[in-house]
Amino acid sequence: MPTVSSNQKKDRKKKRRVNVRTPEVMERVQAEVADHYRSSVVEKVRAAGSSLTIDHTTIHLAKQFGFCYGVERAIDLAYASRRVFPENRIFLIGEIIHNPEVNRQLEQMSIVSLPWREMDEQYEDLGEDDVVIVPAFGAPVSFMDKVEAQGCMTVDTTCGDVMKVWKRVRGFARDGVTSIIHGKADHEETRATASRAMGQDGKGHYLVVLTLDDVDYVCRYLADGGDREAFLERFAGCTSEDFDPDRDLEQVGVANQTTMLKSETEEIQRRVQAAVEKRDGHSDNFSVFDTICGATQERQDALFELLKRDMDLLLVVGGYNSSNTSHLVEIGEKELPTFFIRSAECLISLEEIVHYDLEQNQEVNSSSNVFATEGDVTIGITAGASCPSNLIEDAILKIFELRGIPAEKVRAA
Ligand code: SF4
Repeated sequence: MPTVSSNQKKDRKKKRRVNVRTPEVMERVQAEVADHYRSSVVEKVRAAGSSLTIDHTTIHLAKQFGFCYGVERAIDLAYASRRVFPENRIFLIGEIIHNPEVNRQLEQMSIVSLPWREMDEQYEDLGEDDVVIVPAFGAPVSFMDKVEAQGCMTVDTTCGDVMKVWKRVRGFARDGVTSIIHGKADHEETRATASRAMGQDGKGHYLVVLTLDDVDYVCRYLADGGDREAFLERFAGCTSEDFDPDRDLEQVGVANQTTMLKSETEEIQRRVQAAVEKRDGHSDNFSVFDTICGATQERQDALFELLKRDMDLLLVVGGYNSSNTSHLVEIGEKELPTFFIRSAECLISLEEIVHYDLEQNQEVNSSSNVFATEGDVTIGITAGASCPSNLIEDAILKIFELRGIPAEKVRAA
């Protein structure tokens, strides 16, 4: 039987990774993307110093908000896939980013979302003429292997900043270091990262921690030991398969989901390092790489700046399952009444706002009398890295509309 050489295998693999970024396609795609998501109102407000006052109503926009470079690239590539393959079936592992509006647009282009938590029979049905888009968060190794085994063409939109984290955790695995990943165990990006923390041979280990409470529990165990079964129960679903806290916390390296709260990630790094030093008398068995991405950092910093202004209320616009957006909400909530809204539709009336409550993990209705105030009102606005400008424009127009100022007046201001 003829055998396939490793070079032939490599060539075949290369052939299936398709490049859809040809200049002609990108020119058309970028015009289309701009048409769908850009906002003249937002651009105008930004050009005017990120503030707009009409009569008694003022809005302040954060200096940085909305689409990041990784999201823009992922959307461009998804649109380009349809242009390059007008007749093929195109699939997407999960969501391209966490924004319902963007996902709706892709659905309209007949780009079909596949499950991202577990593979199902739809993956068995994939074939050589199908295109599979990998989202900006990346996908676990097992999913990538499956898509490759089915012979599909892949368009990989994984953000470069996510791949930097993968490089770090792969390095940890190579050196026999367990990755402690600060992130949400059930987030696409963290799942993809965790799969890389197992290393090339699959023998590496990881542990995902989310809260400072989680970290303190791990640190106590690491420094003083504890109940192994209770540990495994507490972190069920957050560790590599045969994780043993008595064996696998010997050498640890901290990495993080790119969109976490910077201050919290730094605190986690400090606490783990202190626990290792307490146990060993030195920190040789501790490694760290800050893998918060630049775009997340800029949006958090811009919000801290915005919060120095005198404001009555903050609106954070974005998808409710967006990690970086929820951290902006947490930052705002510490300073003033803050509402996490998915779109302008959430601004129901002068007194009622529908918004996502992070504590309750659900959308709720709240009353607020800020919009109904007769005197001057100042509203701050920011948005996560997956929120398009047109949604922010809608929110701006709705704020002014509720305050009795028509859209034409806002556009003309
Ligand atoms: S938030 Fe950061 S890691 Fe995620 S896509 Fe944007 S730039 Fe990349």
